[in-house]
Amino acid sequence: MAATGESQPAKHQEVGHKSLLQSDALYQYILETSVYPREPEAMKELREVTAKHPWNLMTTSADEGQFLNLLLKLINAKNTMEIGVYTGYSLLSTALALPEDGKILALDINRDNYEIGLPIIEKAGVAHKIDFREGPALPLLDEMVDDVKFHGSFDFIFVDADKDNYLNYHKRLIDLVKIGGVIGYDNTLWNGSLVAPPDAPLRKYVRYYRDFVLELNKALAVDPRVEICQLPVGDGITLCRRIS
Ligand code: SAM
Ligand code: CA
Repeated sequence: MAATGESQPAKHQEVGHKSLLQSDALYQYILETSVYPREPEAMKELREVTAKHPWNLMTTSADEGQFLNLLLKLINAKNTMEIGVYTGYSLLSTALALPEDGKILALDINRDNYEIGLPIIEKAGVAHKIDFREGPALPLLDEMVDDVKFHGSFDFIFVDADKDNYLNYHKRLIDLVKIGGVIGYDNTLWNGSLVAPPDAPLRKYVRYYRDFVLELNKALAVDPRVEICQLPVGDGITLCRRIS
């Protein structure tokens, strides 16, 4: 940096650091070149069915689905959890990545949406890996934390539900994920709203959850129990590898 006499946070360089999210054309290029041609038929079908659903904004994007699938294979995940299933796109990308005897504990307050995707998941031959539980995640996590047999038992946990509970989830998940295992918190860039000026016109739900996401990011950044990496994939995913 130029010598200004005071230390300032380093700014990103312009060349080579342009956020992929700022170019629709580049994003489309990624999808068409690297994602869609390799998307498993079942995931494509589920993506198309979900696109017709009124809450389709909630689904995991195809590039993030591909990322999760590869990540799970890279870390040889076998026992996993997902909080926030909706119609099951990330769930299916997980189920396809796990070995035949792999397991996903899938939690959501809404079973109806899961049932939209279930026939496709069954057809793909991976439904036997999924243990779906309808209901709020927090009480179930509390039960698991109270039972030492669940401690350190998960290789991977994907959190994609109520953002105002992420820090509550983190307090519990840190005991449930194994040392060396990974928790992925989704939507940690929260529509880009984290750096919006105070008077920016934000949708009501975006404004409501923004402070919770900011708090989460701050807390994860200083949590010595995890190594982290915040990736600009989808709406931002922060990977936390438990180290103690
Ligand atoms: N991962 C999903 C996918 O790939 O399509 C998207 C999940 S969507 C963004 C969030 C989900 O969290 C919704 O289906 C909602 O019902 C669920 N949810 C909200 N609050 C919850 C809670 N307290 N416990 C469990 N699930 C919850
Ligand atoms: Ca998400």
